[in-house]
Amino acid sequence: MVLAGHEERVVEQVAKRLFIGGEWRDAASGGTFKVEDPSTGSVLCEVANAGTDDAFAALDAAVRIQPTWAKHAPRERGEILRRAYELLMQRQEDLALLMTLEMGKPLAEAKGEIAYAADFLRWFSEEAVRIEGGFSISPNGQARFLIMQQPVGPSMLITPWNFPMAMGTRKIGPAIAAGCTSILKPAQQTPLSALALADILREAGLPEGVLSVLPTTDAGGVTEPLLRDGRIRKVSFTGSTTVGRKLLEQSADQVLRTSMELGGNAPFLVFDDADLDAAVDGAMQAKMRNIGEACTAANRIYVQAGIAPRFAERLSERMGALTVGRGTEEGVQVGPLIDGKAREKVQHLVDDAVNRGARVMVGGGPDEGAGYFYRPTVLADVPQESELSSTEIFGPVAPIITFETEEEALADANDTEYGLVSYVYTRDLNRAFRVSEGLETGMVGLNQGIVSNPAAPFGGVKHSGLGREGGQVGIDEFLETKYVGIGGV
Ligand code: NAP
Repeated sequence: MVLAGHEERVVEQVAKRLFIGGEWRDAASGGTFKVEDPSTGSVLCEVANAGTDDAFAALDAAVRIQPTWAKHAPRERGEILRRAYELLMQRQEDLALLMTLEMGKPLAEAKGEIAYAADFLRWFSEEAVRIEGGFSISPNGQARFLIMQQPVGPSMLITPWNFPMAMGTRKIGPAIAAGCTSILKPAQQTPLSALALADILREAGLPEGVLSVLPTTDAGGVTEPLLRDGRIRKVSFTGSTTVGRKLLEQSADQVLRTSMELGGNAPFLVFDDADLDAAVDGAMQAKMRNIGEACTAANRIYVQAGIAPRFAERLSERMGALTVGRGTEEGVQVGPLIDGKAREKVQHLVDDAVNRGARVMVGGGPDEGAGYFYRPTVLADVPQESELSSTEIFGPVAPIITFETEEEALADANDTEYGLVSYVYTRDLNRAFRVSEGLETGMVGLNQGIVSNPAAPFGGVKHSGLGREGGQVGIDEFLETKYVGIGGV
């Protein structure tokens, strides 16, 4: 259990202002907005509320330093990231508490996210010195090709509330490593983790203006004028498909480079030949990581008829045994949803499935008291046409849909506009390859319930997005290829 004094101290320590050009500033308008604790509904603090003038001040700073920053030695850029990695890990406990307070996830998970977030900085500290080009001879032998990689330039980074630290470092890490300046607009529900990260990067030696952070309640007012300005060259967004589409439209004006990590609707396939224990463990991870509020969350659990009743029973036992409560309390495994609207949406999806014939095995409704708690829920015999089959649930609800054949499972799994991740449990090697190849998603968890890893290329296809974050290709999103043709050799 965390003492109230400690909670106050970690909130107190964060600079609740805008970070622009290496300085902490109030908003030009003087405005602030409130940050809430979703486990109590009470106000944690107020934070400066950026507007369009602040956005242009950040852009001016980013543009001014971009040429110098691009020439900064890659090793030094990497070492700044490495120091920031170490600082994050040294302060893991306090940063985790801060995240739990503003976002709600249990402390153990928040600690896990700090380590995951820090790891992006470590990974890209190593990638900064591995930006390579190429040299070749033209096919007719008369010219030489020199290929170089250069930073894209000032970048707009927009992140969601569900992973307040990791979604920031997954973008800031490669931007810094590649030599891009950037402006981060965090989600309005979770600005504190982003501000703490900015301070750590400053302490790690990041030069002034390389990163600005603009918390705001006017997302469009801060980002759209910058995307249309012409000096921003790239937008990297993580969030819903609806907002991603809007940003793609806005980016068309100036033909910006874009990376879009959008919504998911992950199918989780369990075949009769699967290791049942492993499949239930995997489903718990894929469903319950982050209270179900993850783009990678198992949204539709397809189980082959032969093991569906046993799977549903085992999953219900595990889900029913989870402890729901404030994330700061000892032993809590499931925190609150982010807000009242999110909880209403989850309830609506459960009611719709039940009205269509689904059976509630466990849970099925909100938890008592203040805060936006929802009980871990398992629904069995869910009809494929239920609304939740086509909608991101974003909550602790596991719908089980029964299937007969591999072909049917694959067709149903792919019957969605989304294509971020899918999960497959089988011990049949041929089936594992066949199904992995047939799934229309950017990632597949084969006999594992978690795919996120800084060293792997994370991203989706179809309406789940464009581009990849992490892995060896993560830095490419912030680099332009230039080819120099050399004649007269
Ligand atoms: P969201 O509503 O799309 O918001 C994401 C970010 O975009 C927030 O910072 C938000 O600011 C900002 N935003 C909203 N409207 C905007 C506009 N008109 N112009 C510019 N920025 C705007 O998504 P969310 O509810 O925070 O996050 C959940 C979604 O993110 C889910 O769909 C989830 O699947 C997706 N997600 C995807 C990944 C991935 O890697 N593929 C990872 C995590 C989450 P405000 O906070 O002010 O609204």
